[in-house]
Amino acid sequence: MPETLPPGSTIGILGGGQLGRMLALAAARLGLKTRIYTDERDSPASAVADATFASFTDEAALSAFAAKVDVATCEFENVPARALDAVASRVPVFPSAKSFSVAQDRLTEKDFVGGLGIGVAPYAAVDDEASLREALRRVRPPVLLKTRRFGYDGRGQALLRSEAEALPALEALAGQPAIIEGLVAFERELSVIAVRGQDGGIRFYDVVENVHEKGILATSRVPAGVDAECSFEARRIAGAIAEALAHVGVLCVEMFEVGSAKPRLLVNEIAPRVHNSGHWTIDACQVSQFENHVRAVAGWPLGDTERHSDALMTNLIGDQVLRWQEIAAEAGMALHIYGKENARAGRKMGHATRLYPRS
Ligand code: AMP
Repeated sequence: MPETLPPGSTIGILGGGQLGRMLALAAARLGLKTRIYTDERDSPASAVADATFASFTDEAALSAFAAKVDVATCEFENVPARALDAVASRVPVFPSAKSFSVAQDRLTEKDFVGGLGIGVAPYAAVDDEASLREALRRVRPPVLLKTRRFGYDGRGQALLRSEAEALPALEALAGQPAIIEGLVAFERELSVIAVRGQDGGIRFYDVVENVHEKGILATSRVPAGVDAECSFEARRIAGAIAEALAHVGVLCVEMFEVGSAKPRLLVNEIAPRVHNSGHWTIDACQVSQFENHVRAVAGWPLGDTERHSDALMTNLIGDQVLRWQEIAAEAGMALHIYGKENARAGRKMGHATRLYPRS
């Protein structure tokens, strides 16, 4: 049985973004303290919790941080493996390094998910010009060229409509290992937020329907416009991945629904952490993804994932956040602002969740 950390215990969170902020706020509701580890002075999370400000390569600072917490977790997936190891040598870390190593590399991720018998888009590794030519023989354009590591919100991706576009796009990656991926003519994008406890118990939130604009999540809607069979399959897939990783905490699996083709669902990406497509759970569920992640990490019983309302979550990106007054005045709207100073284009500044009576 997991060791249950009582209220008053401290959860260390590696990363200082909005996900860390919402984790800290959820922990506070349960009487748990949080300490953020971030290399950014003005981070959204350090504004609401204790913080250690240091680089992710500073092993002495990581050890000192670990000495101040009872357990640790992570709010971003690109945490350096050595930083995780430094913390894990002192305190338990959930999820474990395995979840991060799989999710950090698109090639490892696709091999892993495909190895479980779960559908993924056709793909091939690209390291240089020769492997690019070979890859394009196997996966025909249109394809997306994506860096294997450090890509998010559509960054590190290029659409290749023809072979002629391939070489310049490869050159732009300046030698970073990449993959090409067949462009999926999807009907919908879906995601499943699962949470797995230290005892192996697993719960799911309702399947979410997502719309991305320029590679960035724009809206998430529940319920998704899919039938019961598709919902069941989407959850089965997320559960199988969480089990195979022995994941502890929230895991998000993003998928494409491809009409009547078989398999009907292809996994695009997994995120070993709380996820933007689960923000609606703060307002539409009794226990949010953030609280359930905290519960899993602290060894508590998992909370109810049932939704009491339908929801439409809209990200406030860049200067969209300037509409905060108008949004705050709208009936049925829950507004969340992350406290970032600079509303740069493409930056997630907040989100708003509109609730509707449960359908
Ligand atoms: P990613 O960073 O891989 O999650 O990609 C961001 C978004 O780009 C996805 O949510 C999709 O909207 C789109 N996208 C990524 N890969 C593909 C693909 N193979 N086929 C079609 N659209 C894709």
